[in-house]
Amino acid sequence: MKRILAVFTFALMTVSLAAAQRLPEVAAPENYKLTFTPDLEKATFEGDETISIRVLKQTSEITLNATDIDFHDVTITSGGSTQKAKVTPDKDQEMVTLAVEKPLSAGAATIHITYTGILNSEMRGLYLGKDDQGRKYAASQFEATDARRAFPSFDEPNYKATFDITAVADRGQVAISNQKILSDTPGPGDKHTVHFAPTVKLSSYLAALVVGNFEYIEGEADGIPIRVYSTPGKKEMGKFALESAVHVLSYYDKYFSIKYPYGKLDLIGLPDFSAGAMENAGCITFREVLLQIDEKQGSVDLKKTVASVIAHEMAHQWFGDLVTMKWWDDIWLNEGFATWMSSKPLEKWKPEWNYDLDDVSGTGGTLNTDSLANTRPIHQAAETPGQIMELFDGIAYGKAASVLRMLESYLGEETFRAGVNAYIEKHQYANATADDFWGAQAKTSKRPVDQIMPTFVKQAGAPFINVKSQCSGNATTVTLDQRRYYYDREKFQSPNDELWQIPMCMKSSTGSQKCELLTKKEQTFTLPGCSTWVLANAGATGYYRAGYQPDAVRALAGDAESKLTPAERIALQSDIWASVRVGREPVGDFLAFAQGLKKDRNRAVVDDVLGRLNFIGRYLVTDSDRYSFRSWLRGYLSPMLKDVGWEPKPGESDELRTLRARVFNALGYDARDPEVLAQARKIATKALDDPSSVDREMAGGALTLAALNGDQTFYDRVMAAIKNAKSPEDYYNYLFTLPQFTDPKLLQRTLDYAISPDVRSQDALGVVTSVMGNPEGQKQAWDFVLSHWDAVQKVGGPFASAQVIGSTSSFCDAHMRDQVAEFFAAHKIEAAERTYRQSIERINNCVDLKSQQEPQLASWLGQHGSSAGGQ
Ligand SMILES: [Zn+2]
Repeated sequence: MKRILAVFTFALMTVSLAAAQRLPEVAAPENYKLTFTPDLEKATFEGDETISIRVLKQTSEITLNATDIDFHDVTITSGGSTQKAKVTPDKDQEMVTLAVEKPLSAGAATIHITYTGILNSEMRGLYLGKDDQGRKYAASQFEATDARRAFPSFDEPNYKATFDITAVADRGQVAISNQKILSDTPGPGDKHTVHFAPTVKLSSYLAALVVGNFEYIEGEADGIPIRVYSTPGKKEMGKFALESAVHVLSYYDKYFSIKYPYGKLDLIGLPDFSAGAMENAGCITFREVLLQIDEKQGSVDLKKTVASVIAHEMAHQWFGDLVTMKWWDDIWLNEGFATWMSSKPLEKWKPEWNYDLDDVSGTGGTLNTDSLANTRPIHQAAETPGQIMELFDGIAYGKAASVLRMLESYLGEETFRAGVNAYIEKHQYANATADDFWGAQAKTSKRPVDQIMPTFVKQAGAPFINVKSQCSGNATTVTLDQRRYYYDREKFQSPNDELWQIPMCMKSSTGSQKCELLTKKEQTFTLPGCSTWVLANAGATGYYRAGYQPDAVRALAGDAESKLTPAERIALQSDIWASVRVGREPVGDFLAFAQGLKKDRNRAVVDDVLGRLNFIGRYLVTDSDRYSFRSWLRGYLSPMLKDVGWEPKPGESDELRTLRARVFNALGYDARDPEVLAQARKIATKALDDPSSVDREMAGGALTLAALNGDQTFYDRVMAAIKNAKSPEDYYNYLFTLPQFTDPKLLQRTLDYAISPDVRSQDALGVVTSVMGNPEGQKQAWDFVLSHWDAVQKVGGPFASAQVIGSTSSFCDAHMRDQVAEFFAAHKIEAAERTYRQSIERINNCVDLKSQQEPQLASWLGQHGSSAGGQ
């Protein structure tokens, strides 16, 4: 699965796990024959199911998972005799027990069930959706534990079985599932019946069905037909997705020793969809905006995201679908691998988009979460549906991906690939654990992967390597010591005994390099030549932070552009910031480093610097320093914009276009540059009249800037544009302009609109939390959440509560923290327990950072004047 919104989540599981909610090991499924007859008007469906099972030991009871299922006839056939079964549901456990009088002996048996289910509006199980024209459709979303809402099942990932799916659909509607269509015949009545070919062995959460009005465009790669489906009228917007998928499939078919195993591939854009996308085998479902994009008009940013989500879901066809984790505690074997893998085909296809640098920035973001005391290890026990849901977080995706990148770099790309293929071949159509993975890698590479990986997978947090280097004669001695990094200064400074086995590479100012495996708390190495600094993350593939002595930081700042790669510059500035966060360095050192990069025109490097300057501007600048901070920022950024140019030039690179938009936005938002704000207003007005008349990279940012001082007339124009948007991208550009206004009356309209029926429930909380992310709307949005808690919980699907709780982490004062704590003490959310603790911790960290660095910042700004940045 791909989550669309980063929920700042993560941690040591201090809450006690609820009682194990697992099926008894009495029987296992071999095949499901399923017929679904949806009634879109009544929002129900009829189900007819035959499960072929193996009874493992004699029993008179079989327990299955089932939720919101109304059972009709249930029989079990074994040894030639058929018995009626008594059905006893257990609502809390989401199970049902089928009991027969005469015990079933071990061996083959079949269960036959007829039932009625609900096409719910919660975007899980088999649910009801609606397109822009009001046409209804049914679609499935089963991960993690919702197949049980569509059919009684052994709904745990290790119970793999084959599926024969049949759908009875209204005339004119199509049915799409994991496999190709075997037959499509008229009847019953004015409906038609679609039989799909049997699947290979799959976990229940990977079965899929979509029924409704859809159209498609088609291509092919390596003999596999690929279709991109959309709701009527949007199929042309599938072209970019199709092109991406064709490229990605060809790449994966070469990378893996097993070719794409599902015969066909469908990618389906759904208007109502709770996650970002879902990797159902051969039948991947997406949020519309992550699949349907205007090929010519679409922005580079969104194209990159679309391609990346497609590559992620397609990587799952191997990591997750072909080889599946045994239990959810190893969800990283799915999500970490798909995240790590997704950049590979795209780097090859579009090297100019620099996905590799985005990955380095991504590691910085993940370290951010992993610096909390309330983070969690990658491998994490979870039993209940709520706990399982919470595992789909930044650790399962980002940290696992970063650790895999580090391992790949340590072993070498080809050795790592051989290990991956050995692992997949051994566990194809079956399940695996973390130990299976590093066991395979250790065996193939003959290196201590099984020693390294558990320290990163089973241990929470990230290591901090303290670097002390000294030149003596014609050599440089480097002493490295490791400890766990925490944002919490007290925790960071107290002795901790965590120990990692860290593959790392060093690089010195004289150009020498050395790669080592750190295994002890403290180790000393020698590099040739007399160096002014030694960088402890050469290549920027490491999953750790490094801290340097102040003179080394100054020397590195001077050499950053000439001697470090863009990736190393990104990692280094993240490291310097980490030292500021724990008070090892004053914030001025970070600003000085940023100033050293003022001639840097690498989009990814600048992006990262701007992100931290935005943080400083928002949290560390006091009212009395705001004027001088903004002037400093203008002095820093204006020459950059002048250099890049205000207008796009023919033939310029996508990276340059994106860089212009980033610098423009920062000048407008963080520096409040009047000229930029005036220009933004012009671009926004044009974008509202005709989106194709402006550079697409600029449109979203310009709308946001125009909203800062936007009045009611402008607000009404944005609202009208939402209703007339021609593409999903335009729609979201306009929709997410609404939370950026500053007038409280307009923000109130936005909040009310967000939870109204006019906004799809998947988008509602994104709008509310964006108001919370707007400093002018923060308090208002929080009060709104408090007074509309029931409505807020109802909209937004399974990720909803975590999204709201996660967004409270943008608060930075003790009073708000107490309000958050008080509210969630009274309104416990099981699926966001860790997210809650993390939010509180983040607020505390921010409050502490403010008290520590505010005066430092004031004094630095005092010394560096208002336009020093430009000099
Ligand atoms: Zn995924």
